[in-house]
Amino acid sequence: MGTRVRQLMERPGTADMSRYRPVVAEAGRLEDEFREVPAAELTAAAGRLRASGRAFGKAELARVCALGREAAHRTLDERPFDVQLLGTLGMLGGNVVEMSTGEGKTLVGALAAVGFALQGRRVHVVSVNDYLARRDAEWMRELYAMLGVSVGWVGEDEDWEHRREAYECDVTYVSVSEVGFDVLRDRLRTDVAEVVLPAPDVVIVDEADSVMIDEAIVPLVLAGSVEHGHGDDEVAKIVDTLVAGRHYEVDGDKRNVYLTDAGIDQVQARLGGVDLYTVEHAELLTRIQLALHAHSLLHRDVDYLVRNDKVELINAARGRVALLQRWPDGLQAAVEAKEGVAVSPTGEVLDSMLVQELIGRYRTVCGMSGTAVAVADQLKEFYRLDTGSIPTNVPGIREDEPDRLYETADQKDDALVDYVREMHESGRPVLLGTLSVAESESIAERLAEAGIEGAVLNAKNDAEEAGIIARAGEFGRVTISTQMAGRGTDIRLGSRDGDGYERVVELGGLCVVGTGRYHTGRLDDQLRGRAGRQGDPGSSVFFTSLEDAVMMHHVPDLRQPAKIDPDGRVHDGRTQRAMDHAQRVAEGAHLAIHRNTWRYHQLTKIQREEVVEHRDRVLREELAAERLRELRPERYEELLETVGEKALAAAARSIVLYHLDRRWSEHLAFLTDVREGIHLRALGRETPIDEFHRIAVTEFAEFFGVVYQSSSETFDRAEITSDGVDLESLGLKRPTSIWTYMVNDNPFGTSGARFLEYLGSKVRDGAIKLGLRN
Ligand code: ADP
Repeated sequence: MGTRVRQLMERPGTADMSRYRPVVAEAGRLEDEFREVPAAELTAAAGRLRASGRAFGKAELARVCALGREAAHRTLDERPFDVQLLGTLGMLGGNVVEMSTGEGKTLVGALAAVGFALQGRRVHVVSVNDYLARRDAEWMRELYAMLGVSVGWVGEDEDWEHRREAYECDVTYVSVSEVGFDVLRDRLRTDVAEVVLPAPDVVIVDEADSVMIDEAIVPLVLAGSVEHGHGDDEVAKIVDTLVAGRHYEVDGDKRNVYLTDAGIDQVQARLGGVDLYTVEHAELLTRIQLALHAHSLLHRDVDYLVRNDKVELINAARGRVALLQRWPDGLQAAVEAKEGVAVSPTGEVLDSMLVQELIGRYRTVCGMSGTAVAVADQLKEFYRLDTGSIPTNVPGIREDEPDRLYETADQKDDALVDYVREMHESGRPVLLGTLSVAESESIAERLAEAGIEGAVLNAKNDAEEAGIIARAGEFGRVTISTQMAGRGTDIRLGSRDGDGYERVVELGGLCVVGTGRYHTGRLDDQLRGRAGRQGDPGSSVFFTSLEDAVMMHHVPDLRQPAKIDPDGRVHDGRTQRAMDHAQRVAEGAHLAIHRNTWRYHQLTKIQREEVVEHRDRVLREELAAERLRELRPERYEELLETVGEKALAAAARSIVLYHLDRRWSEHLAFLTDVREGIHLRALGRETPIDEFHRIAVTEFAEFFGVVYQSSSETFDRAEITSDGVDLESLGLKRPTSIWTYMVNDNPFGTSGARFLEYLGSKVRDGAIKLGLRN
């Protein structure tokens, strides 16, 4: 057995995709059968496969591949390569497939979607943004049409009717956030006819590692009933006076910040001598903690921008402004206070769900990405998925140079500018990948000083971005971008009409330059992968320095390198390897947070499922009327006579739904409070997670009891007529406006457990005086 094969087999979560080769070969033999037939006959053949009405065996799979290949050839003028069929079969087998950039994953995704649809399944192709969802659906439309498979797409601006129609198609393209928001909105419907989403069935996840691992613990949130938040200017001012190292300390991995004793003294003095560590000041302490987090861990132009008097978050994984995202309310307000901008409205969280939970709802999950094998073990752990690598169609000839490591960031930038100038002078297109918006701008400036004008791409809208990226392979172009993962646009050499291809090939193809390693090697690979597509020439090199963030944060005690050139270049194997080590530490930290958050989340998920299931029965069946009849027989009989059965059932349903939704929202708020450490009674005990579970379970035990108790009281008091029930006059209002957002980095949801542990240790030290509430 070759070493490579053995490595593949030994790696947890990987699966050998070559087992689908015989099916690909069979599809090849079937090709002639379809070559000459009229289009209508292809459609009919697909229809016959669908009519068989069962899950496909090898023979049917080969037929689907052959049909798909012929249809793609005719409609897109692209005949899918064998490796593309292999990828298609890998996904139909329920795997995540890794295929390099430029191998044509969009087409592979469509062929897999066809394969599922013809087996009677309903498919969502989930992308990282709205732009790609629409683009891909439209791009593949003719292909689907020829195979008799209906296709639709959903974007943020689409209205209810459009969504409904799109979700009724066999295949729907939609971004992760939009489908998540639709799930959340559907859970609040009070009329079955308004539900837009059918039951979840198959999901094909594009950029699978980015969605399922990097963003797994991002919560999608539905909030309602506006009230204006209040800024915490006083606390922000106090925190502004604190000095790092003296008054507070930041954790090695830059995720937590703690007040030192000196810091506590300073804050307490400024607050007029209060004792922070008492129960009545627990909330104040939380606000201080938030302000300190905003002050010391979130940086303008790295984590967020201030634009038009608003704080706009930057999605670290994609390096662009994330308009839909915000931090949890308290932290959002703290950052706004820090920057002195108006505080945005806050609401009440009506429901929320992690991305991982959204994906987990589907009966079948599969996915594709340029970089998935590296997280195969995590895809297995969190989704029970296998990951397989698909070879490229043409062997790659890209040259990946070893990193060029410098002692200081300045020396690195100088060397990098020199290198870009040299490439640029020859006319070779250069794509620079930077780590942050701030860096993309400073590099662009330095290049401009050296007379090189680059197109900067960091915070524009998706469509414009795609246009800029598409041109990055033209002769003489310099493109400066943050983060390439999830940009989903192909870079062809030469200009878009195919002009100048040869010229750029002769120069060596696209030259990719990284200005530093990302916090995960997968992002480095996404950047590298932009060069050398489909067997083109190309190269990649990363410029790094000992002052780079990844290095500073994760290998703080680095030894002085053995040999340093006068220009600062470091030649030292041990130091070079430290960079890989730093990345592994960063990845390990993310994994630990993922696991921990998921542990905290599981119980909420189970409780939510119970509530959703119950709610569904209230919505679709006569459960509400039955229960209220048992609880208030006399009132029920009386109303039955005056308003009739139908109106009574509708009124009962409205009442119960109101209290069910209300109670769930309160329960969620309660759980958040528990997690955030406001309920200090959790702290004296040993393990926070056990304590969290105990509190959550106890609280939930009364959930339905309280719902029906409140419902009975409303049932007694409300005016119920044949026109319906008047809840508003009792002050029972559903939220008038609802909105959705994604929470970026939840300091309490993620490292919150550690914050609890920290507070817990203070309790045990006797630093916090516990006045237990009960
Ligand atoms: P990926 O997402 O894997 O990077 P894309 O789906 O963006 O790749 O496709 C890259 C390019 O390859 C697109 O321009 C597409 O039209 C082209 N392409 C895909 N499959 C084929 C094929 N079988 N023959 C020719 N061109 C193809």
